[in-house]
Amino acid sequence: MDVTHILAGLNEAQREAVAAPPGNALVVAGAGSGKTRVLVHRIAWLIEAEGVSPYGLLAVTFTNKAAAEMRQRIEALLSVSASSLWVGTFHGIAHRLLRMHWQEAGLPQNFQILDADDQQRLVKRVMRALDIDEHRWPVRQAVWAINQHKDEGRRAAALPDSDDLFQVIHKRIYESYESLCNEGGLVDFAELLLRCLECLRGDEALLAHYRQRFGHILVDEFQDTNGIQYDWLKLLAGGTSHVMAVGDDDQSIYGWRGARIENVRAFIDEFEDVATIRLEQNYRSTGTILDAANALIGHNAGRLPKSLWTEGAVGDPIALYSADNDLDEARFVAERIAGAIEDGGSADEMAVLYRSNAQSRVLEEALMRADIPYRIYGGFRFFERAEIKNALSYLRLTHDRHADVAFERVVNTPPRGIGEKTLEAVRQLSRARAVSLWQASKEAIHEGQLRGRAANVVAEFIKLIDGMAEGGQDLSLHELTEWVIEASGLMDYHGREPGERGLARKENLQELVSAARQFSGELVFPLQDADQPAMSELAEFLDQSALDAGDRESGAGSAVQMMTLHSAKGLEFPTVFITGLEEGLFPHRQSRETENGLEEERRLCYVGITRAMRTLYLTHAEVRRLHGVENHNRPSRFIRELPPNLVSEIRVRRMVDRSSSLLNPVRGLFAPEPSAVNIGQRVAHQKFGEGVVLQSDGQGERTRVQVHFAAAGEKWLMLSAANLQTLD
Ligand code: ATP
Ligand code: MG
Repeated sequence: MDVTHILAGLNEAQREAVAAPPGNALVVAGAGSGKTRVLVHRIAWLIEAEGVSPYGLLAVTFTNKAAAEMRQRIEALLSVSASSLWVGTFHGIAHRLLRMHWQEAGLPQNFQILDADDQQRLVKRVMRALDIDEHRWPVRQAVWAINQHKDEGRRAAALPDSDDLFQVIHKRIYESYESLCNEGGLVDFAELLLRCLECLRGDEALLAHYRQRFGHILVDEFQDTNGIQYDWLKLLAGGTSHVMAVGDDDQSIYGWRGARIENVRAFIDEFEDVATIRLEQNYRSTGTILDAANALIGHNAGRLPKSLWTEGAVGDPIALYSADNDLDEARFVAERIAGAIEDGGSADEMAVLYRSNAQSRVLEEALMRADIPYRIYGGFRFFERAEIKNALSYLRLTHDRHADVAFERVVNTPPRGIGEKTLEAVRQLSRARAVSLWQASKEAIHEGQLRGRAANVVAEFIKLIDGMAEGGQDLSLHELTEWVIEASGLMDYHGREPGERGLARKENLQELVSAARQFSGELVFPLQDADQPAMSELAEFLDQSALDAGDRESGAGSAVQMMTLHSAKGLEFPTVFITGLEEGLFPHRQSRETENGLEEERRLCYVGITRAMRTLYLTHAEVRRLHGVENHNRPSRFIRELPPNLVSEIRVRRMVDRSSSLLNPVRGLFAPEPSAVNIGQRVAHQKFGEGVVLQSDGQGERTRVQVHFAAAGEKWLMLSAANLQTLD
């Protein structure tokens, strides 16, 4: 069989890895050096050149998206069908094995998968049955503890006895949750892996079967595997399978979720005769981008030795934009994208990356306003997030008590002891009398269908909402929003979720307050209009957020890709914007306090920079309203860690203020030119009349200015030719 096409388009080192004789191999190499490409070609090589059946191969990647892409690329290289080839994530593969071997795994055939939400509900039920005080022992913390035990392979029964009350309580919850899951045939995410591992461990015949079947196991993004994934891999390989692991220690970014970079070391030590292959040529990025990335990551200690070079063009300098605030930053991003599209670029060649999901809202709004289609990956759009929907539901109820969807959503969120039985009674009454749930609740209490505790808790809820509405009457929209989030207990409730998640939810709630504040200043239509019935600002805000959650995302066609830096791993784009490069945000407040945390943030920045193929923009804002407060943050140290000669600062300044006025007197002027005008300067043009200078671009002869004319709108003009008169 002719296999030259599989080796074509590979360099020497890549070819060596792809065509190596069967054996264990570790490919450690920097970003964009073709690791994923090697994995794909290796699979094709094994099938076509070594005659391995696709059935005998197992390929593991990090996300479902990556798995789908990998399968596609493999199939493109093959002359035979690859349908029997297993490609998937660790969870996906474990799930598949359990479906096939439910009996061996001790599961009912129709076992049910619990998603994170279901799992949480179940743990809550367990705690209630055990009479454990949720306020003292938050449910989310218990869920977190259970998952962590499972990720480390620990069953409840195997936990040591402890004097520590925290441990004792969590052990009781875990035990009880475990038996409930077993009785009900329920399997949570962490259980998929653990159950699969135990099943293989406990069944010699089964293990032998799979060891024999999977003669080759290939793993991408190996640096981000956790303990149980590594154990699973080792068990399955069993010294007979050949494992090829590819990864980059400099891109390990999931330490906070239990990933162990030590697995790279362990792999070399614990697997037999591991051939280590290094790839050093980068094919993705320009020389400038690569040099910057190398310089940045050079600030981390204890790395595996590595050098990365490219034959590609030097490329443009990295563009750095210092924005006045986050709105200005977002507008800059949107303008650059619009400009690039105007110049013939395609939206999906561009990615906007950010550290925290809460940053996306302002960026989204700027893109929407500029009519640029975008798509958000790995994370809900702002107004679709659970905590935001909860807060909006409370707001809606203060405005309209009969909004049933909102009622359903928050009547027991945060949990206030309104049980399913009580709710069902209310629902029935509401159906029978064709009244809202709110009305039905009141009648049920009044007429005695609800009694005792049930009546009390529902009455409490009614009082809570009435109280919010009454107390909120004299508050401005953002004050009301802030108050409702607090008074409803949502801030506390979401804030108690463990780790990054709880933090993110809190930040998002605070961000909603910012959105409300900003909304007041940005109403497109006046609230009181002669032709329109007056709408309250609150109603407008609620409608707008519902719209924003719905249609505005252009699903099909070319769209700008927006995502967190974490979800950008493995991807590449011609143009990349890394936003929010500020101390406290990136590196993130918490992570920068420890050396390990800081290094992980730096790796995350390295991941971000190395996503860019041709053009890289870095932005930071002097003032950012995030988490509900205005932050004055210094530019991120990561900017300083880049060689200055690779970075060019963009001197365009557009003053955007959150107060109603569009322009402020200029603080930072762009470089003075003989004919320069200042931003904010009032000018007159012969044809367009009077206007205000918004921004300027270019230098000397080629200076252009954008002017907002009262009558003619926004125009770009060549300064040397426009003959502008400056007004006082
Ligand atoms: P990351 O660390 O970001 O996951 P990677 O090491 O997996 O990166 P790939 O995504 O496999 O790198 O490759 C980066 C880019 O370089 C891809 O566009 C790939 O097609 C291209 N590439 C890799 N090797 C070669 C080669 N020998 N010739 C031409 N292009 C190549
Ligand atoms: Mg890759």
